[in-house]
Amino acid sequence: ETEEKKDDESKKKDEKKEEKSKRKEDEKKEKQNIAGAVYNQMRNTILMEEGSVISGRFEVKGIIGGGGFAQIYKAWDKVRKEDCAIKVEHESQDIRRMKLEITVLLALRGSMGIPEILAQGKWQHEDNKSHYIVMQLVGRNLSDVRRALPHKRITERTLYRAMIQVLKALSLVHGAGFLHRDLKPSNCCIGAIDCTRIYLIDYGLTRQYLDKGGIVRKPRAGVGLRGTVRYMSLDAHARQDLGPKNDLVAFLYTTIECGDGYLPWSHEKTHENIIKLKQAHIGDKLCTKQPVMTKAAEYIESLNYHSIPDYEKLLALMEECNPPDLKESEPYDWQYR
Ligand code: ADP
Repeated sequence: ETEEKKDDESKKKDEKKEEKSKRKEDEKKEKQNIAGAVYNQMRNTILMEEGSVISGRFEVKGIIGGGGFAQIYKAWDKVRKEDCAIKVEHESQDIRRMKLEITVLLALRGSMGIPEILAQGKWQHEDNKSHYIVMQLVGRNLSDVRRALPHKRITERTLYRAMIQVLKALSLVHGAGFLHRDLKPSNCCIGAIDCTRIYLIDYGLTRQYLDKGGIVRKPRAGVGLRGTVRYMSLDAHARQDLGPKNDLVAFLYTTIECGDGYLPWSHEKTHENIIKLKQAHIGDKLCTKQPVMTKAAEYIESLNYHSIPDYEKLLALMEECNPPDLKESEPYDWQYR
C-alpha cells in the first residue's frame, strides 16, 4: 500500500513538474514579441544599482521585472514620498522605441488608465549605459493575476469591469492618434494603490495612425510583423498595415483569454496553425464560454482599416456583459485574497 502511495505521490509530483514547465513555456511565449527577436540580451546585466539616486530624486530599491527589451525597477520618489517605477533599456537597444513611449506617455499625461510619466534620461552603471523613463508604479499584470486565481480565470463579475477600463484607456490612446499594437494581458496592470483601477502600459510598439490633420494615414503594403503572435489579428498575420480595429481584436482575445483561461490557439506553435484556428473562431465560435461577448466580437470583426471605432457603442456592449445583479462596489476577484 505504501508503495502505491509513493507511486501516486511521485506521479503527482511529476504532473506538477510538467504543469510548471508548461506554464513557464506558456508565459515565455506570451511575453515574446516579434520585434523581441533581438531578445533582451541584457537580461542579466545590472543597469541600475540598488541605492543609486536617479535624477536627484528617485532612489532605486531593486528590480521588479523585465519585458522583451527593458528592465523595470522599483524606486522611491523623494519628492512625492511614494514608490515609482523606472523602465530602463540598455543603450544598444533601438532608442526609437523608448522615444515613442515617452511621446505617447507625455501626450496622455493625466489620463485615466495611463501610468503618469515623471522623468526621463540617461544613466550609466559601470560600463553599461542606458536610457530610462520614470513613471507611476502599477501593480501586477492581468496575466499574472489570472494565473494566481482559482481555475486560472477571471470571473464574469470582475472581468468586464476590468476590460471596460482597458477599453477606455485604449480609446484615449487612439484619440491621441496612436495605435498601441501590443495589447495583451501582461500589458494590462492593476493599480499599485487602488487595485480596482486598471492601467494600459507599454507604449514601445505604438504608431501614429492619424496625420496632423487627424486623417488616417494611407495604409502601407507588406509591413513587418508587430506585437505578440497570440494576440495579433489576422490582418497583422497577413502583414497588412494596422488600424484601431486591430488593437480591438487584441482587446477581444485578451478578454476571452482572461475569462476562459486560454485561447483556442494557446498551445499552437506554428503561425499556420494559429491562423487556421483564428479563422475558425469568429463571433459566437470565439465566445462559446462567454456568449455575452458575442455582440462585441461581431462589432469588432465588422470594422476595417479605415473605420473609426464607435467606442461608446462598444463600451455599452461591454457594460451589457456585466451580470445584471452586479454592484460597482463588489470586490474584484483579486481583492478576496
Ligand atoms: P517591455 O516593453 O520590455 O515589454 P513592459 O513595459 O511591457 O516592458 O514591462 C514589462 C513588465 O514589467 C510588465 O508586464 C509589468 O508587469 C512590469 N511593469 C511595467 N511597467 C511597470 C510599472 N510602471 N510599474 C510596475 N510594473 C511595471
